[in-house]
Amino acid sequence: MSIGSFHPPRRMLMGPGPSDVSERVLAAMARPTVGHLDPTFITMMDEVKSLLQYVFQTRNELTFAVSAPGSAGMECCFANLVEPGDKVIVCQNGVFGGRMKENVERCGGVAVMVQDDWGCAVDAQKLEEALLQHPDAVLVAFVHAETSTGAQSDAKTLVELAHQHDCLAIVDAVTSLAGTPLKVDEWQIDAIYSGSQKCLSASPGLSPVSFSPRAAEKIGNRQTKVQSWFLDLNLVMGYWGGEGKRAYHHTAPVNCLYGLHESLVMVQEEGLENAWARHDKNHRTLRKGLEQLGISFLVAEQDRLPQLNTVFIPEGVDDAAVRTQLLNEYNLEIGAGLGALAGKVWRIGLMGHASKQSNIDHCLSSLRAVV
Ligand SMILES: *Cc1c(COP(=O)(O)O)cnc(C)c1O
Repeated sequence: MSIGSFHPPRRMLMGPGPSDVSERVLAAMARPTVGHLDPTFITMMDEVKSLLQYVFQTRNELTFAVSAPGSAGMECCFANLVEPGDKVIVCQNGVFGGRMKENVERCGGVAVMVQDDWGCAVDAQKLEEALLQHPDAVLVAFVHAETSTGAQSDAKTLVELAHQHDCLAIVDAVTSLAGTPLKVDEWQIDAIYSGSQKCLSASPGLSPVSFSPRAAEKIGNRQTKVQSWFLDLNLVMGYWGGEGKRAYHHTAPVNCLYGLHESLVMVQEEGLENAWARHDKNHRTLRKGLEQLGISFLVAEQDRLPQLNTVFIPEGVDDAAVRTQLLNEYNLEIGAGLGALAGKVWRIGLMGHASKQSNIDHCLSSLRAVV
């Protein structure tokens, strides 16, 4: 038996990620692999760092891409900032807040959960009450853009509250980065992680992260070693950090970084504010079309994410059968509901390169044909 090359079909990716990757990014990834300590590659890594500082709107020195997907960026933040015994207030309003709890506990921390209904934004008042009840807490963590529900939380206010109570703030921006306004320095976010495959529309496999000087100081003052060797920032920065004196830590995913670099160049060309505005405009167009089909949204209008539209599955429609039909007959991927929302909702992504009129048209006409 001989197995041939793999030729994937060309899908339109309008789920919760990955999103459509442009020809330009794919072409960048097909360029020749160089050594991960090659001087040309190191120059490119410095550019990735500058471009990430731009999309995160930060001057944080400690800004780079973890060599693994968004979940690893999450682990990187918690593993470095949580020490055994640390109390961490985790705001949960969907699936990803639950993963934060797992991370806190696996780092030996104590998670205090602040729960909000799925589909709602994180309630700042509940966070404030938890901070008053737990004056010994040292960190607050929440998800800016809950991809499991399509709800957006007020990151600026939540971080302000954390700081008023002497806590640092860890923010999940996997789905928000480059899709919706996010200002790391202005909002004084201490640790933030994202993913390459959502609104940046690069291939999955990299997690942009950034740490404020305050977070770097907390990491520098740890009493215990970071329990993960791979994610220990003190070691990783020997590779991503110092001018000229790069030390081998791990082999960077070279071609994957070419793709991220190209996707960031494209955001820079468009302009970050223009990218935010495009996501917003396309969301409104899709919304109008869905409403004409009688399809309604899970999230209240003021809390909706433009890049992730969670809608109720119309009465009597077979969830799995329709998604299979969309994939097989229309080459269109939309997302299923997660956790408690499984079978009840669809998640239609308009992320990055996929946030455009032709995708909206194809999505609406396909849905019209099958539901
Ligand atoms: C996708 C996502 C993650 C996980 O990212 P992976 O790249 O799948 O590991 C974490 N948080 C949120 C909010 C996400 O949307």
